[in-house]
Amino acid sequence: MKLIFLGAPGSGKGTQAEYVSAKMNIPPISTGNMLREAVKNGTDAGLSAKAYMDRGDLVPDEVVIGIIKDRVAQEDCKDGFILDGFPRTVEQAQALEDMGIKIDLAVEIAVPDDRICERMGGRRVCDKCGASYHVDYKPTKVDGKCDSCDGNAVQRADDVPETVLSRLKTYHEKTAPLLDFYGKLGKLKTVEGQIEIEDTKRLTFEAIGC
Ligand code: ADP
Ligand code: ZN
Repeated sequence: MKLIFLGAPGSGKGTQAEYVSAKMNIPPISTGNMLREAVKNGTDAGLSAKAYMDRGDLVPDEVVIGIIKDRVAQEDCKDGFILDGFPRTVEQAQALEDMGIKIDLAVEIAVPDDRICERMGGRRVCDKCGASYHVDYKPTKVDGKCDSCDGNAVQRADDVPETVLSRLKTYHEKTAPLLDFYGKLGKLKTVEGQIEIEDTKRLTFEAIGC
């Protein structure tokens, strides 16, 4: 099964991608996590991505497409994968098609902008494995410590209010057209993001049929 998760920054798509990954035993592929890792390690891709990410802009298509191409070619992707945060532009979706990758389903996690802004301040991410948390909705067991590794659950530099607004704008301009793209292919399912993560999880599993 090859799945795509679509949704605004902070919609909870990464969290749902992690749940579905665990349930279906296919890897979650988050371009955001991979880019943050690249920045941390100071690789070429990381160096060229950093300024865009800090501003809340999209990293150029060719950088991200290159990263995805390498990643989906790895052994653990042979039975499928879950793309979280890719594609984010019509050009990226087209690149997937050009790679001959046939997507089974695109799942949109729909959350209104005002709720996104409310939630963002509480969002945390593990600085080591990338697992996602929220201080109210998905707290870590031990304050500030990741549940699944010995990393720290920290706030992302781009989760400050000004950057969140510009990321939301970018989402509506560049990524929302993908809803139409996959809708026209008959491959789109929309899940309304709920207050409780467990409720969204149930609806997401229903939409995928897993
Ligand atoms: P969120 O979904 O909360 O915006 P991500 O972790 O998915 O966060 O992405 C963080 C940043 O990484 C984005 O703001 C963007 O700069 C960059 N990025 C991630 N995925 C892509 C992509 N597919 N294309 C371009 N830039 C990307
Ligand atoms: Zn971790």
